[in-house]
Formats: sequence, C-alpha cells, structure tokens
Amino acid sequence: MYIDKDRLWETLETHARIGGTPDGGVCREALTAEDKAGRDCFVAWCREAGLEVAYDKICTIYATRPGRDDSLAPLAFGSHLDTQPTGGKYDGILGVLGGLEVMRALNDKQVVTDRPLVLIDWTNEEGSRFVPSMLASGIYSGIFSYEDMLRATDARGMTLGEAADASGYKGSEEIGARSFHALLELHIEQGPVLESRGVEIGVVTGSHGMSWSHVTINGKSSHAGTTPMPYRLDAMGAMARLVGIAHNVANAVPDACATVGSIVTIPSTYNTIPHTVRFTLDMRHPDDATLQAMLARFEDACAAERARGFAVKREEFGATPAQKFAPACVAAVRKAAAAAGYTHCDIASGAGHDCVYVNRVCDVGMIFVPCKDGISHNPRESITREQAAAGAEVLYRAVLELSRA
Ligand SMILES: [Zn+2]
Repeated sequence: MYIDKDRLWETLETHARIGGTPDGGVCREALTAEDKAGRDCFVAWCREAGLEVAYDKICTIYATRPGRDDSLAPLAFGSHLDTQPTGGKYDGILGVLGGLEVMRALNDKQVVTDRPLVLIDWTNEEGSRFVPSMLASGIYSGIFSYEDMLRATDARGMTLGEAADASGYKGSEEIGARSFHALLELHIEQGPVLESRGVEIGVVTGSHGMSWSHVTINGKSSHAGTTPMPYRLDAMGAMARLVGIAHNVANAVPDACATVGSIVTIPSTYNTIPHTVRFTLDMRHPDDATLQAMLARFEDACAAERARGFAVKREEFGATPAQKFAPACVAAVRKAAAAAGYTHCDIASGAGHDCVYVNRVCDVGMIFVPCKDGISHNPRESITREQAAAGAEVLYRAVLELSRA
C-alpha cells in the first residue's frame, strides 16, 4: 500500500472534531465559523505538506504540488469539507482529506509527477445553507452565474456574498481561471449497492439523468357516503394508479428510480372524495433515452386517466442530463482498483457531486467506497479505516497514472 492508512484515519478523526456533534456527526455548513475552522485546519495541513494554497472569488481552496513540468495542465482531485446541519464525518471530507493523504504519501516517497497536482475543497457543495447545492463547482462549470449566486440567502437573511466576505477565504482569483487535465473525486457511495454486493471499490462511470415533475389530477369532490363507487371521479384513485405505474416502470428497468415523495390532496377531509391531488415525481436513469422512455410510459398512464374523465397535467420543473465520465478517467480508476487488489464494479452515481458538474467542462472520474447501511447525510454515516484507506489508495494510483505527461 502506498498511502498510510493510520495517518489518514487520524486525520479524518481529528478533522471531524471541528463542528463535531454529540451524536457522532458533524455540523459544518458552508462559510460558517465551523466551516472556517475546518478550512483553517485543512490549509495548515496543506502548508505543512509543502502545498501552495490559493482561493478563488467563491472561496474554493486550491492546494498545488508542483510537477516536473508546470506548463502542463494540472491533474486535480478533491471534494468538499462542508456538511449538512446533521451531517456525517465522511461525505465530501473523505475526498479532500484522502487527497491530502495522497499528497503526503507522494512527499514521503519523494515522487515527482509530470503534471502539477491540485487538491480542491469546493465551496457550498451541500446546498443546505445556501441553495443550490454544488454551488461553486456549478459556477466553475458555467451552470450558475457568480452574481446570481452571491445573492443566495441563508435562513437568517445573510447572503452568500456577505458570508464569503466574512469568511477570510475570498480570493481574487476568477472562478474557472484554472483548467485541469482531469479532475478525480473520492467519495462515499451514500447508497447500499457496494456494501450489499460486498464490493470494495465503485468505479463510477457517470451519473443519472434526472427529471422532476409536479403532477396535478383534477376529478370531482362529493360525499364519501352518498356517492356509490361507480359514480366517483376520485382524484386519489387516479393518483394511486399513477404512483403504481411509476413504481412498476422503475422496477422493470435496471438502475432506474422513481419516487413520489410529496402529495397534497384537496380538500383533505376524511369524508370527502378529493377533487384534486398534486404530487411530485422524481425519475432517474443513467441513460437519457431510457429515462425519456420511462417518462413516456408514465405519460401513457396519464392519458389512460384522462380517458376515465380526469384532467391530468405533468409539469417538469427540473431536469438534468445523464453524465458519462471520460473513458480515460474511468479506466484509470478501474486499473488502480485492480492493481491494488480490491474487488470493484462499475456504478453510476445517483446523487449529484462536484465532479458531475465539472464533467461538462473537463474530464472527470470518481471513486466510490461503501458506507455502512448506505446511510449518509446523517450522524450515523460510517465507514471503516480499511474502506477509507482503500479509497485513498485507489486515488493515489489513479493520480500517478493520470498525471503522466
Ligand atoms: Zn458529498
């Protein structure tokens, strides 16, 4: 093993005390005093490791290790140190501190890579304090405008612009001023797949396409006792059929997901047939064409409800295309996992990550490690010393491969 697993674990444990909560979690929302303390600690460690630290205008941290030829585009890796208010110790943090361990291990072995290496802590990945999530990497990738994001406001009325000014981490560097040869991100899976398959490393091939809709069904209200079943136009009945169809569609397609997470019924009394039901539909699949085919099957079911006499409307309020990661990065991660002797499998990310946005402007690759019971965004988020080490070891080897000129 190239990396030092005990040093990595000690680093993770030490850093988790910053904003640590009594239940074993971490609360370090973006640009708070806790986040600043977490950054201060990280930056001090970077400087101890001889890295040159810089910040851009949205407070993203870049820590650079020189290469043999600094005119070559750097190879970057990292993730985020901010957490949910009831977050865990590893979501994002493993990718940043695992990256730091890679830098330290390269120093130990006096390895000089061809390309310079840049370790990144992206600002406000979580989106819990300032909406949207993946805010800094989204600006970097041209998805959000910097000026709009500065006006994002937290629950107390403070803008992100004000929080950035107060953080001490606002640099003068333009966001996106640096371009990279490629970007790698080590992350916990945040789902149950790797653990349930008994696989040590997930080779991430891309991310799911996602579609979010509001569905509104209009039927007819009437008395729950005096209206025999055949005379009803019960919007709840139509909803139940549509939810069943959405689940059936997703169950029939490998790697598909369908979620109805929010329902409103009107008038919402126990003895009146609801005339209106509104619900949300979240559908995902790693292939855009398959996702569209799933939505088409759901639309067919809506048409069948219209034929029964209901008015049914589906309005998509958000969508994001599936991302395919660069074959060279995916191959480097797969080769690194195999060379280190870890069991591994391909997996698509069901969640958003900084890398998923940056994939639009730069080659990216991701490494997943399993987490206990797939639990994340929760103080009970848990990985073992060995799982952390496996992820960092694969990152180290992939960095060696991709930093070659
Ligand atoms: Zn994360």
